Amino acid sequence: MRQTKLIASLGPATDDESVLRGIIRAGIDVARINLSHGTIDDGMDRYDAVRRIAAEENRYVGILGDLPGPKVRVAGFAGDTVFALGDSVDVRTGEDASTASVIEVDYDGMAANYDVGDRIVIGDGRLVLEVEQTTTDVLKTKVVHGGKLSGKPGVHVPADKLVLSTPTDYDLKLADAFVDVGIDMLAVSFVKSAHDMRRVGTEPHPRGPLLVAKVETRSAIENLDGIIEASGAVMVARGDLGNELPIEDLPITQKQIIKRCIAGGKPVITATQMLESMITAPAPTRAEASDVANAVWDGSSAVMLSGETAVGVDPVNVVRTMGRIARKADEVFNHDTWARNVTEMRMNQLGSVNDVTDAMTVATWRAVTELDVAAIICITGTGFTVRQMARFRPEAPILGVSVNQATVNQLTMSWGTTPLHLTETGTREEMLIGAMELAAEKGHVRAGDRVAILNGDGVGAKVTNNLRIMVVPA
Ligand code: PGA
Ligand code: MN
Repeated sequence: MRQTKLIASLGPATDDESVLRGIIRAGIDVARINLSHGTIDDGMDRYDAVRRIAAEENRYVGILGDLPGPKVRVAGFAGDTVFALGDSVDVRTGEDASTASVIEVDYDGMAANYDVGDRIVIGDGRLVLEVEQTTTDVLKTKVVHGGKLSGKPGVHVPADKLVLSTPTDYDLKLADAFVDVGIDMLAVSFVKSAHDMRRVGTEPHPRGPLLVAKVETRSAIENLDGIIEASGAVMVARGDLGNELPIEDLPITQKQIIKRCIAGGKPVITATQMLESMITAPAPTRAEASDVANAVWDGSSAVMLSGETAVGVDPVNVVRTMGRIARKADEVFNHDTWARNVTEMRMNQLGSVNDVTDAMTVATWRAVTELDVAAIICITGTGFTVRQMARFRPEAPILGVSVNQATVNQLTMSWGTTPLHLTETGTREEMLIGAMELAAEKGHVRAGDRVAILNGDGVGAKVTNNLRIMVVPA
């Protein structure tokens, strides 16, 4: 069983129903709807399609709506447009069309905020321009890194040149619309502080969506602890982060962000260009395969596909390939060393820990290292217990059992966790038995298996204060 979760971005390449069904069958845990492209209605169509097909396939697939934030884009190119080193290109504000000689950008502050010598990075680094002359409304530039662009690529505007803040009015409008239909998770782009996360203003999960902070600005790195605290999960958004930092700083920054999320018990996603060459190729490069495996060993809860599935030639093949690489990496993951590090980290980060759920999950981890258990069953209201448990990366599968459907959907992002929906509530004892029966019915445990079960004093219990080691009855 794969323990690292897999997120796939939807796009034109997955709009064909057989492809969407194919990637769901191939094992995606979460579908990401990138709301930077298309209209709200386009996003809604994709949302409905995932819900319907996941139900037909009897799978829990979480849906992550990715809010665009103040992402600056260029007006569309008519087709593939090639830029060569030394070419002259005018950059100006506009939304009509871009060509090889004039690029229009949907940001008013372009000419005012750039100076001679500044670089303009377009399409995640595929084209880099250097400003040679500025006028009141046009930047005269030369190509310093040539490449091919098509569609409406993004422009990386460094935080100090960008006067816009996140979430934008459009983000809030999108959030409203998707909360109304019951979206599971929302990602917030270009977050600079915990305050930006709070401004989204949705209800705390699981009633509201699990909010994912995309770490892709320098300020986000400076304010990381507060952002982690204010978020349900975090994304290492390497596309834009790789423009904000010198590229050599990116690998270590990825590791540091992941580490800090783990101690806080927050799921963390590693994203962007993971299998980039598979947008057109049938197999990844060696470096890409290593990148996915290393992201797993760094402690990512989930790895994400972007253009590979959204606009790639064979999304199903990409999902299968990433699934195989992640699964192999999971198999050789050093669970024991990891858990020991986490227990140390939580002491260092939290000082004197005095939290019941925290202590109970530590105790569970210790118990299952000494006992052979078929599964760790966490009965959870909000999913908190599951996320605390998943920090330890236990070898035994975690079954996240909840009577709350929203919680079940949000647990699709938690490492090593199989979400299960319990339809009947009851006393603590009844829920224990019900959870075991459900786990057996779904084939995760068998009669005679030993299991560890964590729960609280009943539905809505705020703390998990009960650990039982039980044998699944016949
Ligand atoms: P994006 O976010 O694809 O929405 O830009 C991910 C990233 O920046 O890596
Ligand atoms: Mn980004």
